[in-house]
Amino acid sequence: MDAKVFVYVAHKDGKADDSALELVTAARSMFPGSSPVALVAGSGIDAVCQESAASCGEVWKFDQDVLAYPNAELLRPLLVKVLPAGAMLLLPHNTFGLDLGPGLSVKRGVTYVPDVVGIDGLEGTTLKVVRQEFAGQVSAHVHCAVANGAVITVRSGAFRPAEGGPAAGQVVDRSADATGLTARRKFVELIQAEAGDIDITREDVLVSVGRGIGEKENIALVEELAEAMGATVSCSRPIVDAKWLDRPRQVGTSGKTVKPKVYLALGISGSFQHLGGIKGNPFLLAINKNPKAPIFQAATVGVVADLMELLPVLTEKIRKSR
Ligand SMILES: Cc1cc2nc3c(=O)[nH]c(=O)nc-3n(C[C@H](O)[C@H](O)[C@H](O)COP(=O)(O)OP(=O)(O)OC[C@H]3O[C@@H](n4cnc5c(N)ncnc54)[C@H](O)[C@@H]3O)c2cc1C
Repeated sequence: MDAKVFVYVAHKDGKADDSALELVTAARSMFPGSSPVALVAGSGIDAVCQESAASCGEVWKFDQDVLAYPNAELLRPLLVKVLPAGAMLLLPHNTFGLDLGPGLSVKRGVTYVPDVVGIDGLEGTTLKVVRQEFAGQVSAHVHCAVANGAVITVRSGAFRPAEGGPAAGQVVDRSADATGLTARRKFVELIQAEAGDIDITREDVLVSVGRGIGEKENIALVEELAEAMGATVSCSRPIVDAKWLDRPRQVGTSGKTVKPKVYLALGISGSFQHLGGIKGNPFLLAINKNPKAPIFQAATVGVVADLMELLPVLTEKIRKSR
């Protein structure tokens, strides 16, 4: 199938979001031989366009003040107008993608393929994708008819960021197509979360604790291990919800996105909301007492063990070896 493929480039502070290069990889894997076109919308976006041109053969630039904040209500009619018949559009599977994708697919009269984590291949005009259900315990293999085109949302972290590609793609200024856009929903203000006393987004080694730690008092075991390793403690969301650790330590889609070199996941099941916050392919060591925990699918090394037994031994060994 000779598909025209587009990837949406989310960006902030003049830089493309990690999801953009992941979408390029996903697009190339779904539609082999295609050269994805990057869609960059915003205000003052030349730097993002240039960055995108390094991995996509073509970049469509929509530079208008009204697009300074990514408002799906504005982008929906714009994309209905500019996307050619049969186009495949890949979006990140986040609140923005979920806001934009379903309505856009209905307006375009094309298939909506949400939350893709893997690809089984393209057979004729049937795209075969993998999705996860029941918090990653079940993989669903889905066949989608994409002859007319599709809107596809791709889960964060499911594909490695694209490397290489054309040396310099062409930036096509299509800002004139984005005039006269109006929305009832208006962007008011972006409130940044407080960094707190630590900034886990800058740490190279994270020891992350999940609900498997059992109770608040046991967090001390994790802190001792982190101290022995010279690492920083982070956590999954239930630990923050229980107020066992502060919110700035939460990793995940509603917490921080981290890019450590080493990540220890202690008693963390491996929900996509948690894994979505881990970028850059760290060495991921998972310790979990359930051998079927989804975290083992993402782990570099997995250890099936009870934290209460293993953590004191591990800490002691590391202390001695230092
Ligand atoms: C909109 C939304 C946003 C979310 N955002 C985030 C987010 O940003 N970050 C996040 O982390 N979650 C987030 N979540 C929650 C997410 O869906 C999961 O519920 C959460 O990640 C699970 O945390 P967990 O792995 O610590 O706990 P659980 O899923 O309960 O897993 C605990 C694990 O510990 C293991 N275990 C138990 N006892 C032991 C033991 N003694 N030794 C070893 N292993 C043991 C168990 O086998 C299990 O695998 C979000 C959810 C929603 C709906």
